[in-house]
Amino acid sequence: MTTENILISGASVAGPALAYWLAGYGFTPTIVEQAPALRDGGYAVDFRGEVHLGLLRRMGILGPIVRAKTDMGATTYVNAAGKKLASMPADLFAGDVEVLRGDLAQILYKASAPRAEYIFGDSIASMTETRDGVDVTFEHGPPRRFDLVIGADGFHSNVRSIAFGREEKFASHLGLYCAIFTLDNFLALDHASLAYNTPGKLVILNSARANTEAKVVFYFASPLIDHDRHDAEAQKTILAERFAGIGWETDRILDAMGDAPDFYFDSVGQINMDAWSRGRVALIGDAACCPSPVSGMGTGLAVVAAYVLAGELAAAGGDHRVAFPRYEEALRPYARRCQKQGEGAARFMAPESRFMSWLMNQNYRLMPYLPGKGLIAKSARKTAEGIELREYPPCSEVVTSP
Ligand SMILES: Cc1cc2nc3c(=O)[nH]c(=O)nc-3n(C[C@H](O)[C@H](O)[C@H](O)COP(=O)(O)OP(=O)(O)OC[C@H]3O[C@@H](n4cnc5c(N)ncnc54)[C@H](O)[C@@H]3O)c2cc1C
Repeated sequence: MTTENILISGASVAGPALAYWLAGYGFTPTIVEQAPALRDGGYAVDFRGEVHLGLLRRMGILGPIVRAKTDMGATTYVNAAGKKLASMPADLFAGDVEVLRGDLAQILYKASAPRAEYIFGDSIASMTETRDGVDVTFEHGPPRRFDLVIGADGFHSNVRSIAFGREEKFASHLGLYCAIFTLDNFLALDHASLAYNTPGKLVILNSARANTEAKVVFYFASPLIDHDRHDAEAQKTILAERFAGIGWETDRILDAMGDAPDFYFDSVGQINMDAWSRGRVALIGDAACCPSPVSGMGTGLAVVAAYVLAGELAAAGGDHRVAFPRYEEALRPYARRCQKQGEGAARFMAPESRFMSWLMNQNYRLMPYLPGKGLIAKSARKTAEGIELREYPPCSEVVTSP
């Protein structure tokens, strides 16, 4: 085999899933994660259709994922006074299994850790490709040489910046921002969500972790804002300025923002690249082809991509010059369809015109009674199942404890 040691940057979804398959094929994966430990909790992500579920089953993690599922029920749309306008059953939008991203990352970590080296609290500082490998320096640890480097480090990928150039070359903004944090379940929601929208703004509050806490998700329409991505206080100010006084429980929710144990704020966008690899470096997951958070497809796409990239490397006997183009050829049409789903969804998340916002509320009110109500879920499932996965050489199983 021409390839043995593979460095993966990022331990969320794509990175650990890739490490799982690579180790099964006899490669030696090392994962470097910038955070000091696996990031906990977070927002809910979902899997849908047999392509996703089949891979999770083959990885032996479908059981643990189902046991960790959020079990969310209906989403109720309310007006500024909290009066219920419409109720949407969970199966109208949700996938087959919904789980918190942090819980999923824990499960993937557990499945891959027995046969992968994990380094937390570090990040790649530089990569120099030579004829035989990639010389990597780290922010903290000693320099090392790897045969290949894979960037699984998300929308703001560090590996992409180093190997391919500035993020702005590849990122497209979908006209939305998203913020999320955890707070007390002060409305005693029971496996349920409340949603409130005004023109250009959407607030969704849902119970989480068996109703012991709540999570709030804000979406607002905006062109790109010039702000420091690492300055959470400045981001909280932006959010408060946009949402204060809009009605319903929004001010109370904003008051809880200061105590939030977690706070996420980012633009909603996609990554589009002409090529996902350069020499011995390749990208996977959101780093390569982020379909956006609103697509509902990013997690499944990352798991599918991990299977394909590892399988192509195994099939090519570790020759990245053969495997990387085949990986891209197999996955690109699927990734594009996932992105299209994201573009469509972004248009309806927080429409800015009063009329569109009103129309959305009417739509939610009527949707449960419309004959075509299953079409949204059906179309998402069709997208999720829109790839025929190749069989790769046999992969030895990693037995994980239940
Ligand atoms: C608000 C929100 C809601 C979403 N909802 C859904 C949904 O309902 N359904 C769905 O399928 N998807 C959803 N997604 C998308 C989904 O979370 C992503 O598509 C998926 O997590 C992609 O996985 P990834 O491993 O490629 O990247 P990420 O999950 O972004 O992980 C990247 C990892 O790299 C690490 N990292 C970053 N920089 C460095 C560095 N310099 N060095 C080392 N490590 C680094 C990060 O800490 C992180 O652990 C949502 C996303 C968001 C933000």
